[in-house]
Amino acid sequence: MSKLLDIHEKLINKDISAVQLAKLYLSKAKRDNGALGAYVSFTEEEALKTAKAVDGKIARGEMISPLAGIPMALKDNISTKDIKTTCCSRILCDYTPVYNATVWERLINKDAVLIGKTNMDEFAMGSSCESSCFFPAKNPHNTEHVPGGSSGGSAAAVAGNLALYALGSDTGGSVRQPSAHCGIVGLKPTYGAVSRYGLIAYASSLDQVGVMAGSAEDVALVFDSIAGGDSMDSTSNPQYQANTLRDLESEIKGKKIGIVKELSEGLNEDVEKAFSEAVKVYETLGARIEYISLPTLQYTLPIYYILACAEASSNLGRYDGVRYGFRKNIYEDINDMVSQTRSEGFGDEVKRRILMGTYVLSKGYRDAYYKKAQELRLAVVADFKRAFSKCDVILSPTTPATAGKLGTQSENPVDNYREDICTVPVNIAGLPSVSVPCGFDRENLPIGMQIIGRSFEENKILNFAHKFGQVTEYIKETDWGVRL
Ligand code: GLN
Repeated sequence: MSKLLDIHEKLINKDISAVQLAKLYLSKAKRDNGALGAYVSFTEEEALKTAKAVDGKIARGEMISPLAGIPMALKDNISTKDIKTTCCSRILCDYTPVYNATVWERLINKDAVLIGKTNMDEFAMGSSCESSCFFPAKNPHNTEHVPGGSSGGSAAAVAGNLALYALGSDTGGSVRQPSAHCGIVGLKPTYGAVSRYGLIAYASSLDQVGVMAGSAEDVALVFDSIAGGDSMDSTSNPQYQANTLRDLESEIKGKKIGIVKELSEGLNEDVEKAFSEAVKVYETLGARIEYISLPTLQYTLPIYYILACAEASSNLGRYDGVRYGFRKNIYEDINDMVSQTRSEGFGDEVKRRILMGTYVLSKGYRDAYYKKAQELRLAVVADFKRAFSKCDVILSPTTPATAGKLGTQSENPVDNYREDICTVPVNIAGLPSVSVPCGFDRENLPIGMQIIGRSFEENKILNFAHKFGQVTEYIKETDWGVRL
């Protein structure tokens, strides 16, 4: 089941060299990127340098990490020293960080081979990958459809076999939703499980770096390597030591799964059917099903869009044309320069969110919107807590529908925001959740379900994901990329 461990074996048995592997992935990724739009830049030099070093270690008989020499990708909002990191925004299109994100630093220490940086919705705001300032990414299962977003490029790279795993970020669903749309496994860790240092901020109280791969086992392997406290991120948990691999094979029998009424409504027919089949699979594995209600979930979309926009309006204040990236060169005075830079540098969705965020924080409206959303956030946390006193995990569809066609996002942004209904509650409560493929719709597009756990119980949700993967066959190779 684990592609990563399979390839690791091949590397240490010298069936293939790390340099051959890197070259293969680079050439296929470049070949298929025209069709899939998964990458916005390639990191050939970096990849070959690391691959060569891995081959050296193998030749000398040194121990290597299971991630050593494995081709992978990073979302383009994860800072990479001396490698452009654009957030797929015009305002950062020439920005090259001078430091590495902690997650990338940890993978460098494992000799991970970076193939390139992946496409995303501008500043991670969106669900279709169409607001990238470069080009949209496409769904490898059907290129007329979106891969989801905002980590759509990472999902397309993994599902299209152009990388063996990828990191994304999840503020309101951006790892889980594209993973569901592209038929792969995607983990959004507990808030504080993974360092956010070097992840370009969208909404700091919700953002987490997540892992996307072809199986729960591969996700576990990567997650264990990047998780844990970091002195550079005071919101990371210094006590947390992830060991999800150890618990992957635990028994499901006798464990309790909560099915939430509020997350099972308004689903498209195919999603509803696949989801109820998935519940039956768990029953045959011996799990007990409990139907529960979390009444505060009806407020989670407004809570999310108020808090995320408020935080974004503050976080994106730094892009003023002085300190970072793009600057408009002809201007009258400093105010005119900042105004023109921001008007041209940001896309429409980003501007909309900055405006909304500024509004909900402004004098006279702050109490009615921002403060109320903060209070309701606590009520959501309490609701989940109550649910987890009765259940081990909560199961729901990841999205109410499968991937839409390119170019069919609604003119009315609220319609698009509604698609995040199942994923945002998890970020609001800071919980871990993993999206797992659980079927295909009538057009053969993947369907995903999410398994939500208590804080820092990534081991449990990955165990549930792994057990489901062992008895089902919903992860299918696409026609793209590398076949070994
Ligand atoms: N679709 C959500 C949004 O647009 C989620 C984004 C994310 O998780 N980065 O805000």
